[in-house]
Amino acid sequence: MKSIMKYKYSIFVFFLFEVIAIIFWQSFQNPLYFLTFSCIGIFFALVIALYTAKVKYARNVVQLVVGSFILINLGLLSHQNIMIEGFWYCLFLGVFGAAVMHYLIAKIVGPFLFGRGWCGYGCWTAMILDLLPYKIRQNPRKNIVFIRYIVFAASLLFVAALFVFKVADIEKIMFWSFIIGNLLYYGVGIGLAIRLKDNRAFCKYICPVTVFLKPASYFSILRVKCDLKTCINCGKCKKECPMDVDMTDNSRKRTNGTECILCLQCMNSCPNESLHL
Ligand code: SF4
Ligand code: SF4
Ligand code: SF4
Repeated sequence: MKSIMKYKYSIFVFFLFEVIAIIFWQSFQNPLYFLTFSCIGIFFALVIALYTAKVKYARNVVQLVVGSFILINLGLLSHQNIMIEGFWYCLFLGVFGAAVMHYLIAKIVGPFLFGRGWCGYGCWTAMILDLLPYKIRQNPRKNIVFIRYIVFAASLLFVAALFVFKVADIEKIMFWSFIIGNLLYYGVGIGLAIRLKDNRAFCKYICPVTVFLKPASYFSILRVKCDLKTCINCGKCKKECPMDVDMTDNSRKRTNGTECILCLQCMNSCPNESLHL
């Protein structure tokens, strides 16, 4: 019984996604929803189980599988723009498309529950960035976060302009903007990571999705906490954090608290097991 309890988070996540899968399947009478959410749930549950069992590189494997699955299945094969432009596009059309569903679950409502888990386990941009050599920032943090707001506004204006000027064949444009947008993200993300010696520089300064992710994840139920009675202030955890979070401060206002991607690197590096979820 004790060994099963060790995997309680994994079991919880599996059943949570199964419930979501059944709700969407029944609501929209489309088994694809059941398949998609079940797969995501199995992968998330698996990675948590692998982490619990302390298996190395589990997160990267899951991120590659989940990210590729969504990118290929929904984006390339089903021609759904599931980037931020696709989200605006669905809102302008007034339809509950794949992008709205994806944004609600992973980026707008979900983060109240699991913070930026999407950024650590599902994002198809970061799945490539995380393979680069600069896992930990090697230069001082830059004060250029305003770029994310410009990109956010540009994405909204781009889609609004398509509607205002009644551009023909918007669906085709949205598909191509998905392809070009992703190539741009990969190019800028990789370039910036090499330039700033920080794999996650794109996430910290450019990604427009963080405009949604950061406020919601401030209230996240799932977050890394520190047992201050056993912590010896050795600082090993902070040296391992790819997002520069001060995880030894338990307050919501801790430094870069809304950037935590739940990679659990800090927990694995703590010699005293002072960090937990
Ligand atoms: S910040 Fe953006 S690019 Fe980075 S992992 Fe999150 S969604 Fe992906
Ligand atoms: S190392 Fe810890 S605090 Fe930093 S992003 Fe990963 S889980 Fe969050
Ligand atoms: S690694 Fe553990 S003991 Fe060291 S500062 Fe972090 S939480 Fe405290």
